Amino acid sequence: MTKAHVLGFPRIGARRELKFALEQFWRGALDEAALAALGRELRRRHWNLQRTADLDYATVGDFAWYDHVLWALACLGLIPRRFGFAPDRLTLAQYFSLARGDGGVPAMELTKWFDTNYHYLVPEWDDAIRAAPGVEWLFEEVREAQADGHAVKAAIVGPLTLLHLGKYRSGSDRRLDLLPEIVAAYARLLARLKALGVAWVQMDEPALCTDLARAWLDALPSVYDALAPTAPPILLATYFGPVAEHAPLLKSLPVAGLHLDLVRGRGQLDAFLPDYPQSKVLSLGMIDGRNVWRADLAAALDVLERARDRLGARLWVGSSCSLLHVPMDSAQEPSLEGGLADCLAFAVQKLDEIAALKRGLLQGRGAIAQALAASRKAQETLRSLARRGSAQARQRLAAVTDADCSRGSPFGVRIGRQRERLRLPPLPTTTIGSFPQTAEIRRSRAAWRRGALDDARYAATMRGEIALAVKRQLELGLDVLVHGEPERNDMVEYFAEQLEGFAVTENGWVQSYGSRCVKPPIIYGDIRRRKAMTVQWIGYAQELSPKPVKGMLTGPLTMLQWSFVREDAPREAIAFEIALALREEVLDLERAGIAVIQIDEPAFREGLPLRKSGWPHYFEWAVRAFRLAASGVADETQIHTHMCYSEFNDILPAIAALDADVITIEASRSGMELLEAFAAFRYANDIGPGIYDVHSPRVPGVEEMVRLLERAARVVPVERLWVNPDCGLKTRDWSEVEAALANMVSAARSMRSRTG
Ligand code: GLN
Ligand code: ZN
Repeated sequence: MTKAHVLGFPRIGARRELKFALEQFWRGALDEAALAALGRELRRRHWNLQRTADLDYATVGDFAWYDHVLWALACLGLIPRRFGFAPDRLTLAQYFSLARGDGGVPAMELTKWFDTNYHYLVPEWDDAIRAAPGVEWLFEEVREAQADGHAVKAAIVGPLTLLHLGKYRSGSDRRLDLLPEIVAAYARLLARLKALGVAWVQMDEPALCTDLARAWLDALPSVYDALAPTAPPILLATYFGPVAEHAPLLKSLPVAGLHLDLVRGRGQLDAFLPDYPQSKVLSLGMIDGRNVWRADLAAALDVLERARDRLGARLWVGSSCSLLHVPMDSAQEPSLEGGLADCLAFAVQKLDEIAALKRGLLQGRGAIAQALAASRKAQETLRSLARRGSAQARQRLAAVTDADCSRGSPFGVRIGRQRERLRLPPLPTTTIGSFPQTAEIRRSRAAWRRGALDDARYAATMRGEIALAVKRQLELGLDVLVHGEPERNDMVEYFAEQLEGFAVTENGWVQSYGSRCVKPPIIYGDIRRRKAMTVQWIGYAQELSPKPVKGMLTGPLTMLQWSFVREDAPREAIAFEIALALREEVLDLERAGIAVIQIDEPAFREGLPLRKSGWPHYFEWAVRAFRLAASGVADETQIHTHMCYSEFNDILPAIAALDADVITIEASRSGMELLEAFAAFRYANDIGPGIYDVHSPRVPGVEEMVRLLERAARVVPVERLWVNPDCGLKTRDWSEVEAALANMVSAARSMRSRTG
C-alpha cells in the first residue's frame, strides 16, 4: 500500500529546547541523564507528530546529537582516531569533544551540507580505518520508537555519501580503497537493525546529486550488493537535485526502493517511470524540505496520479529531503502581515500536506477538499502579495543598464583618487565591522523591541555604544574605523526588517550547526527600500572621527542566500531587486560623506549550484547583482567586500569580476596559503588577508602577525595589502579584542618600518 513519510524532522525543538539544553550541558549546568531525557522527550514528540498527522512510519535516526554525520560515524564506529576514544564506549561528553575540540586536540572540521546553510562535521579518513563496533544509540532509539508502538523507518547517511564527504587527513586521497571497511561497518549496523525488526532503512545518498566521478558511481552496485542481503528493506534516498542521468544504474541496484526529489529535480520522473522494476517502491519527494511555502497540492496530485497509474501501491509520498532545513511550526507566527501566515508550511504543516497527498491519492480529491481549498487560497494570496508593486519593480529592473553595473573608471585610476582622498598609511589597518555584542547591548535591543525602551532612549544608548567603539579604535590607532554594528541583531535580519518584501518571523529557527540556529527572513514580495537603513548610525560615527569610517552593508547574494525566497520569480531577479535597494543605500552613505563602504558577501560561494554546469550562469548574475549594488559611486569612494572562507581557487575569476576596490578575507588559519592563488591569478585590486583568527579566544602576538604579513607580502605587493582580522568581532569580548587589535596595529607598524 502507498505509504507517507518524511526523510527527517527538525531536531532542535519547537522552542529550541535542544539548543538550550546542550549549552547548559556544555557549561556543566545540566547532567548527562537530564540531557538524555530531553532527547527522548523530543524524539517522542516528533514521532507522535508524524503519527498524528497520519504518516505511516516514524523516522528514527534523524535526531542526532549535534550533527547527523558525526552521529552516523559514532554509530558505525568510524570516529576520528586522533582523539584516542574507544569507538564502542564513546561517552556523550567525548562525542561532543569530537565536535567542539578537547583541550589541545582541535575539533573536527565543519563544512556546509551540500548547498544548504546546515554544517556537518567532516569525517576523517586514513589508511588504518577499520570497521569496529560503535555506540548503541541508533538501536536504543529504534527500541524507544517501537515501545511507543511506531512502525519504524531508520534513517542514516549512506556509505557512498559518508565516504565522499570525508577527507584524507594526510597523504593522497585513497577514499575508495576504504570502501570494504566502510561497507563492513554498515553491514554490521544494518544486520542489527534487521534483527530489531525495523520495517525499512533509509540510506541517504545525496552525493548522487553532485558531479560524482565515474569511479564512485562504478562502486555503487558492489556496495549495495554487499549490504542488501543482510539488511532490512533499503530505501535509497537521493535529494537536493535530479539523478535522471543515473536512472538505469539506480533502477538496477538491489535495493527495495528509491526516493527522488521532485522539487529540486522536477522533471526527472520520466526517466524512472518507464520500466520501473515491479518489485521496487518509488518514493516521490513532493513536499519541499528546503522552503517554507504551502505546496500546490493539486499540481502535486497531478504528478502522483500519473505515477500511480504505473506504480500502484509501490508509490510512496514524502518530503523532498529532510525537514531539517525548515522551521518547526508556522502556527507560532501569528503576527505576520496580510495573510502571509496562511501561505506558510513549516515542518509541522508539511506533515499534514504529505498525509493529505496520500489520502487524495487513495480516496480521491473529494476526500481532501479542505486541504485543496487551503492550498489554492495560499497560492492566490501569494500571487496577490507578489503583484503589489511588481509593475514598478519590473520597470526599475528593466531600466538597469550595463553602465549601472560598472564603476566610472578602472581600478588603477580609482585607487589613485581614493588614496589621495583617504591619505592612509601603507598597509592600512581596519576591522570587518562588528564589535563585541555585550550583554548591555543585547539587553537594550531586547527592551526596545518589547517596547520597554522608547526610540529616543534606544537611539541614545546605541549612539553611546558607537561613540565608545570609535574612541577605542582611535586609541588603538586603527586607520579605517567602523561603527561597530551594535544596532544589528543579525546581518541579514537587520536589513530584512527594514526592506519591503521581506517578512521576519518570531520563531522560525533552523539549525545551522550544533546548538546554533538561524532565523532566515522570508522574501514574499517585491523588494524596496522604504528609507535609509544605516546612515544615521554610520554618519554619527563619522561625525566623531577625524579618520574615515566604513559604511557597512550586507550584499545582495548573502541577503538572498540566507533567506527563504519566493518561487514565482527566478533567484537572479530577486538578487537584482535587493541590489537596487542596496544601491540606494550606498548612494545615501556616499552623500552623507562616507568615503569607504563595505558590502559583505560571506555567502557568495555557497550560492553556487551543486553541479558545475550551473556555475557559469550563477557567476554571471551574481557578479552583476553585486556590481549593481556597488557601482553607483564616484571613483573617490572606496568599495570593500568581505568573504570569510578560504576556498577561493575555483571562484577567483568571479571574485575579480566583482571589481571591489578592497577585499578582506579569512586567511589566518591557512597561514596565507590562499594568497598564492590570488597571486597566480594576478588578482589586481587591494587585499586584506585576515591575520587574526576571530573564531578563537586566543590573542595572537605581534610577532606571529608580522610573520603572517611577511608571508602575505611575498605574494601580494605591499602597496596592495591591508591589515585586518579574519571576520567580525561580535562574538568576542572587549578585553580580547583590544589586546588583539593593539597587537595587530603594532604588527602593521613594524611591517611598515621594515618595508617602507
Ligand atoms: N560586517 C559583518 C561583521 O563584522 C560581517 C560578518 C560576516 O562576515 N559573517 O559582523
Ligand atoms: Zn566574515
